[in-house]
Amino acid sequence: MNGYDFQRLRAHVPKQRLTTARERIALLDALYSEVWRRREDLHAAMYADFRKPAEEVDLTEIFVLKSEIAYVKRRLKGWMRPKRVGGGLAMVGSSAWVRAESKGVALILAPWNYPMQLLFRPLVSALAAGCTAMLKPSELTPKTAQVLQEIVEAAFDPNVVQLVQGGADVAQSLLAEPFNHVYFTGSPAVGRLVMAAAAQHPCSVTLELGGKSPAIVDESADLKVVARRLAWGKCVNAGQICVSPDYALVPTAQRDAFVNALRDAMVAQYGPDPATAPDFQRIVNPRHAHRIAALIQDAVDRGARIAHGGATDPDSAYIAPTILVDVPRDAAILTEEIFGPVLPVLTFSHEDEVIAEVESRPTPLALYLYSTNRKRIRRLLNRLQSGGAAINQSVVHVGHRALPFGGHGNSGIGAGHGHYGFLEFTHQRGVYQQLLPSAAEALSPPYTPFKRKLINAVLRWL
Ligand code: NAD
Repeated sequence: MNGYDFQRLRAHVPKQRLTTARERIALLDALYSEVWRRREDLHAAMYADFRKPAEEVDLTEIFVLKSEIAYVKRRLKGWMRPKRVGGGLAMVGSSAWVRAESKGVALILAPWNYPMQLLFRPLVSALAAGCTAMLKPSELTPKTAQVLQEIVEAAFDPNVVQLVQGGADVAQSLLAEPFNHVYFTGSPAVGRLVMAAAAQHPCSVTLELGGKSPAIVDESADLKVVARRLAWGKCVNAGQICVSPDYALVPTAQRDAFVNALRDAMVAQYGPDPATAPDFQRIVNPRHAHRIAALIQDAVDRGARIAHGGATDPDSAYIAPTILVDVPRDAAILTEEIFGPVLPVLTFSHEDEVIAEVESRPTPLALYLYSTNRKRIRRLLNRLQSGGAAINQSVVHVGHRALPFGGHGNSGIGAGHGHYGFLEFTHQRGVYQQLLPSAAEALSPPYTPFKRKLINAVLRWL
């Protein structure tokens, strides 16, 4: 389908919202079996779009989707069941329950960095919730977008799910339609536009945004292990991950040992010349590669030192894994989200400096604490806000199906994955039923002296 037909999705809502768990699960199965059938095409498309290794397509796109679907299938019936709730003595004589009802028609707008996962994982939640859905993948990974469109057309009736390709103009025209929920994953700047457009209807939004996620390493951490996990979190997908560690904070005395360990870990992953490493991905396009190269250059011009890497060939979308030290605070790389395989390493000598550094920026999507000092971990978790957090690991928490995944403040609104995704696409409708005469009736006007006594008793005893 080249165009889209919003009215068709709208008209089908009354039917879709009444579907059973079994019918919704059949849609999830249809999605996965089509994805599985097109596995080789997905490998080829993502390699062509940004040289994503087939192994990472399998692990971070296909497996993540499979795992999400398996989790939802096992629990959906329970999530859909109305939940009885008690009201206490004041509500004696009544019954009450909460129904998780489909919100209606959902719009899902996705970015390019995990082009399938970030489009289909919210779709799983929308279908589980009984919504019909319009999908728009990113225009920056066009080969993948084409395969995704073919998957959607093969798996679904266009009354239930449609996919339309295009860029900002198409997204804007979609946002003019009165959707019932918009699930947007992308940059904070576009997230604001999406929220403003949704306010016109108005409709609820989930904003999965980005930001600068810090990795705090203290003297108790095993530097070799930290380096291995951070090097992976920073370089997988060439750093183009919303929860990629954006900068590291390490004790001044440990800085050189940390940098050496991180360099060794990067070399162990991609060899001495990552440009020739088959498993090292490219930046999505030369424009973004030029942006990252300019961030490195700006930092160096202001006095930063390249401790590892630094090679760039933006026209072929290549940025080497890079470690920067002595980066001055006014360098753009310390304020803009990097979204590439470059890690500035900052130092601290006291925990207060860590807090000040993190709090000088908007609330991040992830907070990484590498430490075995339990008191410090608790203190920093209490003190520093973030969308999610991981202790002694980076990025992997996103794959945990029972955890909510979402930002806070500048890094987003709402949360996805598993039950949290289901809740995002459903309206929690409270239903009250009067079974016996209500206590409130005994307290209605006229307020006789006896009723006043009763009201006093209510205030005192209930
Ligand atoms: P983007 O905001 O440029 O684009 C995301 C989507 O919005 C695309 O489908 C795009 O076509 C559309 N879009 C672009 N301009 C628009 C406009 N003016 N009006 C309406 N829609 C518009 O983001 P991107 O460059 O594709 O992705 C990178 C950003 O996404 C980073 O900031 C990253 O941190 C964030 N991100 C967040 C998550 C998360 O789950 N929180 C995941 C991945 C990426």
